[in-house]
Amino acid sequence: MVNLKALRPEELQDFIVSCSLPPFRARQLIHRIYEKGAESIDDIKEFSKQLREQLSRKAYISNLKLLERQKASDGTEKFLFELEDRLSIETVLIPDDDRLTLCVSSQVGCAMGCDFCLTGTIGLKRNLRSFEIVDQVIQVSKFISYRRITNIVFMGMGEPLQNIEEVSDALLRITRLIGISKRRITLSTAGIVPNLLKLPEMAPSVNIAISLNATTDEVRNTIMPINRRYPIKMLLEACRAYPLEPRRRITFEYVLLRGVNDTIDDAKRLARMLRGIPSKVNLIPFNPYRGAKYKRPDEDRVLQFQEILVNSGITALIRKSKGAEICGACGQLAGHNEPNKPDRGTRWS
Ligand code: SAH
Ligand code: SF4
Repeated sequence: MVNLKALRPEELQDFIVSCSLPPFRARQLIHRIYEKGAESIDDIKEFSKQLREQLSRKAYISNLKLLERQKASDGTEKFLFELEDRLSIETVLIPDDDRLTLCVSSQVGCAMGCDFCLTGTIGLKRNLRSFEIVDQVIQVSKFISYRRITNIVFMGMGEPLQNIEEVSDALLRITRLIGISKRRITLSTAGIVPNLLKLPEMAPSVNIAISLNATTDEVRNTIMPINRRYPIKMLLEACRAYPLEPRRRITFEYVLLRGVNDTIDDAKRLARMLRGIPSKVNLIPFNPYRGAKYKRPDEDRVLQFQEILVNSGITALIRKSKGAEICGACGQLAGHNEPNKPDRGTRWS
C-alpha cells in the first residue's frame, strides 16, 4: 500500500499517472490533503465513488494519531501524537496577540545531549519523515477548526539540522503546499555547522535561530556537547557567512542558567561576540522539569542581562515561557509513551 502523504508532489503525480489517471487528479489530492486535511481517500470529494474505491486498493493516507491534548491556563496547547511505529512526539501551539505559532518536532528525541534539555535525556530514537513533520501542521490545523496557524518554529523535539533532508522537504511542503510564508518559519539549531551552511541550497530561506547558550567554549562544551565538534568561533563564522535575505536577522537563543552562563561578564561578552552579525537575542530563563540540575536566575539578573545587551545596541527580548505548567515550554518535551523511554546509548557524546 502506498501512503499518499509520504510522496513528494512529483512522486504523487507519477503515482497517479501510473494508475492511468490524468495529472490533475494529483493536484486535487494535494489540495485535499494539505489544505483540507483529508484523512482518507474517501475524503477526496472531487473523486467519484468508483475512483475512490479503485485508488483505495493501492493507496491510503496516513494520519498522526492524537493520544493527548492538554491546554495551559495561558492558552498554550500541547498535542501528543503517536507515529505508525508507536513512538510519540509532541507539538505545541502558542497563541500570542495576533499570532498563532506552532512549535513542531523534527526527531523523536535528540542525539545532541544538551545538559539542560529534557528532550536530550531520552537520546535519539529516530528521525521524523518529512510527512510526519508536515502532518503536525495539518492535524493541528484541523483540531483548531482551521484557525490560521501564522508561524511555525522548529523548536520542538529534535535537532532539525541532524535531519536536514527530511526537514528541507517538510519546509518545501509547508511553504508551497500548505501556503505558510517562509518569512514566518524559524528553524532552531544547536549549531551543526556544515549542515547550517548547506541549508540555503536545500530549503526555502526560512529564519534561523542559533541556540548559543554560552559565551565561552569552556562553558558551552559542558552544557552542549556539540560544541566540542563545532566550537563557538566556527559557529559564529558560519553565521557571519550565512546568506541572509534583506532586513533579516539571525536569532540567538540564550537559555539563562543560574550561576552557569548568567554573569555580567557573559552579557558583555555576548554583546561583543555578536558584533557584525545582523542579530537579535532571545533570552530564555531556564524552564525546570523533574530531575533537572539547573535553576533559572532571579528576575533581577535576567533584566540586568537584557539591559547590558540593549545598551550595546542589541535587540534582546526575554521570552516568556508559555505552557510551562503542561511541560510544553522549551526543553520540556519528551513524549511519554513506553517506546520513548530514555536510552543513554544513543546520545551524541
Ligand atoms: N534542537 C534545536 C531546537 C529545539 S530546542 C535547538 O537546540 O535549537 C529549542 C530551544 O529550547 C533551544 O534554544 C534550547 O536551547 C532551548 N531549551 C532547551 N531546554 C530548555 C530548558 N529547559 N529551558 C529553556 N530553554 C530550553
Ligand atoms: Fe536537542 Fe535542542 Fe534539546 Fe539540545 S536543546 S538536546 S539540540 S532539542
